[in-house]
Amino acid sequence: MAIRLVFIGPPGVGKGTQAALLAKSRGIPQISTGDILREAVRTGTELGIKAREFMDRGALVSDDLVVALVADRIARDDCESGFILDGFPRTVPQAEALDAMLRERNIPLLGVLTLEAPVEEIVTRLGSRRVCPRCGRVYTSATEACEADGEKLIQRSDDHPEVVRERLKVYEAQTHPLVEYYSKRGMVRKVDGLGTLDEVSGRVTAALYGAGR
Ligand code: AMP
Repeated sequence: MAIRLVFIGPPGVGKGTQAALLAKSRGIPQISTGDILREAVRTGTELGIKAREFMDRGALVSDDLVVALVADRIARDDCESGFILDGFPRTVPQAEALDAMLRERNIPLLGVLTLEAPVEEIVTRLGSRRVCPRCGRVYTSATEACEADGEKLIQRSDDHPEVVRERLKVYEAQTHPLVEYYSKRGMVRKVDGLGTLDEVSGRVTAALYGAGR
C-alpha cells in the first residue's frame, strides 16, 4: 500500500528533517513546498518572482500557486508508491484542494502527522538554524561549512527574529486549524517534536505504524 502522508507543524519544529528521513527510508519523495518555492526564487522563475515578497515577510504564498505546484508534482511517476507532503497544506482551502485532487486520482491519504514543540524552543532553534545555499542541508549545531560540499552556511532570510514571529502567527491563525480539520476524520497522529533527531524519528515511525503501516 502506498504511503501518502502529510506533515504539519510550526516552522522550525523539525518536520522537514523528519520528512526527509522517512522519505529516504521508504524510498518515496518528500514534497516540500517551501523547498520548491525557494528553488523558484533562486532561479528567478515566474513562480519565484511572485512568491518572493510573501516569503520574505513570512506570509503565505497564494493558495492557487501552491495548489497548482503540488497538483503538478504528485502527478509525476515517482509519486506512484507514495509521497510525504511537507509544508502543504497550510490553509483549509489548500486542504480542500488536496482532498479534491486525491479523490480525483483515487489515492487516499494514509494519515497526517503533526509535530509539536513549545514556542520558546522553536524560536531558539530557528535563531541558530543555518542552511547550505548549495544543497539545502539544514544545521542547528554551531557548524560553519556544509559537511557534504564545504559551502559556507547561511541563515535563511525568513529565519530572522521579526520574520519568525510573523511565521509563527501565520501558523497559529492559518495552519493550526488543519489539526482540527483532519482530527475530525480520525487521521491525525500527534508526535512530540522535542528531543534528539533519533528520539523524534522513533516517534514518527511509531506513529506511522499507528496510522496503519
Ligand atoms: P517552509 O520552508 O515550509 O517554512 O516555507 C517557507 C515559506 O514558503 C513560507 O513562509 C511561505 O511563505 C511559503 N510556503 C511554503 N509552503 C507554503 C504553502 N503550502 N502555502 C503558502 N505558502 C507556502
